Formats: sequence, C-alpha cells, structure tokens
Amino acid sequence: MTLHIPFDNTYARLPGGFFAFQRPTPVKAPSLIAFNEALAKDLGIEGADDPRLAAMFAGNALPEGAQPLAQLYAGHQFGSFNPQLGDGRAVLLGEVVDRAGQRRDIQLKGSGPTPFARRGDGRAWLGPVLREYVVSEAMHALGVPTTRALAATRTGDEVIRERPLPGAVLTRVAASHIRVGTFQVFSSRNDQAALQTLYDYTVRRHYPHVQNPAELLSAVIERQAALVAQWMSLGFIHGVMNTDNCAISGETIDYGPCAFMDAYDPDTVFSSIDRFGRYAYVAQADIVVWNMAQLATALIPLMPDVDAAIKDFTDRVHTMGDLIRSAWLDRFAAKIGISSPQPEDAQLVSELLSLMQAGGSDFTNTFSTLATGGARDQIADRSSFDAWATRWQERLSAEPDPQNVMLRANPAFIPRNHRIEEMISAAVDGDDSLFHRMNRVLAHPYEDQPDDADLTRAPSKSEIVTATFCGT
Ligand code: AMP
Ligand code: MG
Repeated sequence: MTLHIPFDNTYARLPGGFFAFQRPTPVKAPSLIAFNEALAKDLGIEGADDPRLAAMFAGNALPEGAQPLAQLYAGHQFGSFNPQLGDGRAVLLGEVVDRAGQRRDIQLKGSGPTPFARRGDGRAWLGPVLREYVVSEAMHALGVPTTRALAATRTGDEVIRERPLPGAVLTRVAASHIRVGTFQVFSSRNDQAALQTLYDYTVRRHYPHVQNPAELLSAVIERQAALVAQWMSLGFIHGVMNTDNCAISGETIDYGPCAFMDAYDPDTVFSSIDRFGRYAYVAQADIVVWNMAQLATALIPLMPDVDAAIKDFTDRVHTMGDLIRSAWLDRFAAKIGISSPQPEDAQLVSELLSLMQAGGSDFTNTFSTLATGGARDQIADRSSFDAWATRWQERLSAEPDPQNVMLRANPAFIPRNHRIEEMISAAVDGDDSLFHRMNRVLAHPYEDQPDDADLTRAPSKSEIVTATFCGT
C-alpha cells in the first residue's frame, strides 16, 4: 500500500516571513531503523508497508501533500539573545489532525541545510537521533507531555564530527514547533503585524479559550510549571533550556544533551556545553521562570498600555514559583505514597532526598523500591533511614492506598545513560537490537518486567556517563 499522510497544512499559509520553503536534501542510501506504527495509526497515517518508507522519512521522496519548510525563530542561548535562529537542519513536512482531533506537526530533523543553517551541515548523526527516539518515546510512556518519534532512518552518508559518523534522520511529531523564540523573533524586530498573526495562530491552535496576551502568558506558565515539576519528579535533566527549545504548547522539545540522573544530586549537569550549570537538575525550576519572563517581554508590544502590561505580566510571572512548588509537592508526595499532600509533607520528602544525596542513592531505584520494601538497601545511612521511615509510615496510615499511588508515580524503568551509550555504540556497528529492546521495555515503564530487570540496574563506576553532547 502507498503511504498516505492526511496532511492539512496551516503554517505554510502564514505570511512568507514566518518560514522558508525548503525541500530536504536527498541522501545516499536510506534505510529504515524504526517506524512507530502505533503513533502512525493515531495520526491517521496509512500504508506502513510502503517500500518507499525509508526514502520518504530520509527526505529522498516527498509524501503527497507535504509542503516542506524551515521555520524562523530567535532565542536566548545560555542567556544571550540570538536574534535569528530558525530550523537550520530540520523541515516541517506539514500537519495532520490526529484521531483525537489534535493538530500535529510532522518534521524531519537532520534533513539537510536550510537558509537558517548556521555554520553547520544540516545533518544529524545516528547517536542523537536514536537518543531522541528512545527518550522522547519513553517520556511519553512515562506520562510526560513531549514531542514524539515517528521514524528513524540511516542515510548511508557519513557526517563529519570529531570523526566520521553514520548520518541519520529523525521524524519528529509535535503539537507544534512554536517556541518562546518564535515570539521573540518578531517582537525583537518590532514587527507588530507578524507578532499579532503569530499570537492569533497560537491561540487558535493551542489555547482557544484564551482572550488576550495576558491570558496566553498565564496559560503557558501553567503548562511549563507542571512540565518542569514532572521532569524533576523523574530525575530528568533537559540540558539546553534555551528559549528556542521551550515549546509554547508545553511539550518537552529538543532532546539534545538530555539525561536522566542516576545518583541523586540536585546540582547534576551532563551537558558538555553547560559549563556553569545554568541548566542543572535543580536550576530547571528557576530557568523556566526566566524563560517565561522572556515570553512576557516578547508579548508586551501586543498590549495597548505598556506600563500596565509590564506590571500585570510581571505579577503573572511571579506566580510561577508557587505553581512549580505546588506541582513539585504533588509529584514528590505521590512518590512516597501521599495522594493529597499537606504543606508539611514537603519536609518529609526533602529529608528523604537529603539522605539520598548524602549517600549517592540511585534516584529511580530508591523511589521504585519504596513500595516494595527495598528502599532501605538504597540508602547509605540506614539508621537515619529507619528514623525517617517510622515517621513516613505514621503519615501513610492516613492514606487510603499508598502502595498504588507509589506504583503509579515511580517508574521501574528509565532510559539510563549508560544503556543509551551502549545502544548507540552497538548501532554504529550496525546492531540495533538494544535500541529496539529499550523501546519495547520503556513503553511500559511502570510495569514489573522481570526478564528485562538488567535495564533497571544503576551504572557501575566505570559505566557512569559524565557528559552528554548536543546533536551538532
Ligand atoms: P539545537 O541545538 O538542535 O537546538 O540547534 C540550535 C540551532 O542550531 C538551530 O537553529 C539549529 O537548526 C542549528 N543547528 C544545529 N545543528 C546544525 C547543523 N548540523 N547544521 C545546521 N544547523 C544546525
Ligand atoms: Mg533547538
């Protein structure tokens, strides 16, 4: 059967200044690594058995109805403003309305340079493509709002990085690719008309109940606050929370040097380019507020009374700390079995985290064994743990079903960094079996899967991954 993607494109009908039409650059020898049939079904895509699948998702052939384009945006990268970024190595093929009625973007990433490419080849190598595929799908299974992975292909070309590496293309699905940086690009240019058009488009697409820019700001703040609290509850570190990697939809986007923490330490940083820990695990809660302040600034030109708007928007941004703290408490209280937390429960959570930090306990395994009685073995200071556990059990006596609350809040499986590294090295040598196995197991992260228990193991000293790298 022929691949059929029911495209219904709207971004391509926005004014020309929003993007550049750009076809993907063909590659030498496309071959399919993975095609996400369940997601394809949700998107209303038919013809998963089309022999041209690899060609189409590597960019050598265009599916009917695609209108490939590279989107323009700007962004603060590590705090400094870059007035023009844009998709330098990605093209939006178009949009579909999925079976739930939600509009979704389908984008090729690593499909060749665009007019916005900066000193780059427009390509991606296999490593980051497989990492994004596995981690974004795992995040979805963990219940986190995220972009998805529809396909991964090898290109048959080499990509030159520190050494020649196999090239690959990821097909990414997103609620949209509108970023804080998309608002920033038009705002910083003082292009009122474009800013208004983007605002109208965004509201219609993502926040139809919103009546004005102030309400849009608050709606995005709510979603981003919930998102970051959820990341933290899973030990997830995004790694590059630049404003161009911050989606207006509230989805996690741009899995570059992202990583899940093994041993609990709030100051954990993986990204090799994050030298000052700007995007460290615990800093994420502050940085997202900073990012929302940049969105607020970008929205100001839409307001008739600038002084009043600055005051109002500032107040809205200042509510975010409390939103994050409250979402954080909900998430972490659930991790210790408390379904409706009281403010004083924060103390109980923090004390456990301190014990974990002091002894370098594995974040995921400590929480996942709380429900099964094995957590004591994860904590170095046993007597302090016992004292904590006595108070914890007292608190849980007031809870109807703590066991179940914990099982739903604490995954057994996360995409562990050392496994991802192992998966990438194997794939570079042509063996994709660990990639497929990780996808299969991580599709059910909260389930006990005894045959795959080795994937719950924390890294040994020699396996610990200390640095992660962007896809560039
Ligand atoms: P990212 O790190 O993927 O969020 O990218 C940041 C910016 O650099 C975006 O505008 C990308 O499109 C651009 N970029 C990253 N890698 C490449 C590449 N290999 N070729 C061209 N542009 C790139
Ligand atoms: Mg990016």
